[in-house]
Amino acid sequence: MAWNKDKDIMALMAGHGKSLDGSWDSGCVYGSNTEAALMLPIVKAAVRYLRSKGIKVLTDADKNNNRNMTSCVKWANNKHAKLYMSVHCDYKLAPKGVAPLYVSSAGKKMAKYVGKYVAKQMGMKWHGAFKRLDLYELNATDCPAVIFETGAIKADLKSLKKADQYGKALGKAIYKYIMK
Ligand SMILES: [Zn+2]
Repeated sequence: MAWNKDKDIMALMAGHGKSLDGSWDSGCVYGSNTEAALMLPIVKAAVRYLRSKGIKVLTDADKNNNRNMTSCVKWANNKHAKLYMSVHCDYKLAPKGVAPLYVSSAGKKMAKYVGKYVAKQMGMKWHGAFKRLDLYELNATDCPAVIFETGAIKADLKSLKKADQYGKALGKAIYKYIMK
């Protein structure tokens, strides 16, 4: 997609974390597992991979998920991020599989490419990319955006706990997508 490593910035955010009133938003929960705690090391590993390839990345994972989604979106818009991805997992009754969400056609392209690649690398089910009209991070971002549902917190817990492997697969998928 004609990525310029000197100028272009990818926003890659960890879902949930610190909320507007300063309290902690853990996202969905299954037993002792929380969405925020599972996603942070995945995002860190993905960011590490992308930076090792010379990609500029804006992320709240650098400060352990210190920004809520409103703050993440404002930050990304201020920095003129070229792509936005927020990393989440689905609640405990959700079916197995990787299921990224998008609203724009450019978002759909990224969702499909990255999602399929990650599912294959992780030996997970590809559940599909889904259009959603009601999500802040998709609607308020000035650039193509994806909410990346990494899997279901119960059905895919084993895969979600392989944070380094998952994050690397995610980083690789993003890299391949933006450099192709
Ligand atoms: Zn979430």
